Amino acid sequence: MDLSRFPRRRYSHGATPLEFLPHFTKALRASCDVGGGPNVWIKRDDMLGLTPGGNKTRKLEFLVADALAQGADTLITCGAPQSNHCRATLSAAIKEGLKCRFVIEERVPGSYKPDASGNNFLFRLLGVEALSVVPAGSNMLEAMQQVAAELAKEGRKGYIVPGGGSNAIGGLGYVACAQELQQQFFEQGVQIDKIVVGSGSSGTHGGLLAGFLGNRINIPLIGIGVSRDPADQDPLVHKEAQAVADLLGLDMTIPREAVLSFGDWWRPKYSVPNQAMVEAVQLLARTEAILLDPVYTGKIMAGLIGLARRGFFKRDENVLFIHTGGAPSLHAYESEVLGLTRLPA
Ligand SMILES: *Cc1c(COP(=O)(O)O)cnc(C)c1O
Repeated sequence: MDLSRFPRRRYSHGATPLEFLPHFTKALRASCDVGGGPNVWIKRDDMLGLTPGGNKTRKLEFLVADALAQGADTLITCGAPQSNHCRATLSAAIKEGLKCRFVIEERVPGSYKPDASGNNFLFRLLGVEALSVVPAGSNMLEAMQQVAAELAKEGRKGYIVPGGGSNAIGGLGYVACAQELQQQFFEQGVQIDKIVVGSGSSGTHGGLLAGFLGNRINIPLIGIGVSRDPADQDPLVHKEAQAVADLLGLDMTIPREAVLSFGDWWRPKYSVPNQAMVEAVQLLARTEAILLDPVYTGKIMAGLIGLARRGFFKRDENVLFIHTGGAPSLHAYESEVLGLTRLPA
């Protein structure tokens, strides 16, 4: 599959590491009564470029290239109050000499605090040009179009990056990741049996799926929902994978059964902490000194741990966890991740 015909900017230095997690694997195995526990590997997409990396960086390499090709001077995007995506988009804008504006959706009412820590702090440090806050359920595309219209009145040109950077162009970033993984499996002599990936706005899961099918990589992808159950999440992922495949000209119908996700670890609500997330964040920090985040990767790793304990993975199966980043928001949830706050299971 040839990605070279799509314009791309580069925000990272080379491939992110693919590593085995020996101490985490041992600790997980000791806590698995059934199945025996898999060997856990990690793809360090938390080490991508932009302050700091995470999965949005891969999508932005293609999205910002498109914005530049269209002559935009301002990136407009949207997200939650602790959005990694907004922070990464702002960071890419700075590197390109563009301005950046956000529309922030208060998915949890009252959750936007101008002086909050984590990504919110970084919005201010990096100097977002303007941000507006809208209530949960607002039409985010319309709100962003309004910002674009305001810019147009001043003779400027905005480019709308969709929420999470998840459209066909953004999904190309994870097609590139699929190709990078294929190369690493070959070079490092690693045989991965299953991959666990977060599933939110779906560009990561859907892009990887299109990349795997397009490159005939036969490893099942297991999505862990961060905001939806499979009945709502799987159609989104399927649509994204199909859009990416179409953009690539693959002439392929994505089989519906290639999309699989679990929704057991995101409750009580998107971004609201639970006990399983805290266990996952602490376990990876204390066995491998790798930081997860409370909103996404902590819950996604809780999914991997939970599936292992259910016996979903066979003993000695090689399971790869895609670390999609997010560490800055740890600082907005310090007392929760330290276990100092009572949380739902
Ligand atoms: C956005 C995000 C995800 C979810 O990825 P999608 O492509 O939106 O499904 C997972 N982890 C982190 C850290 C994120 O910021």
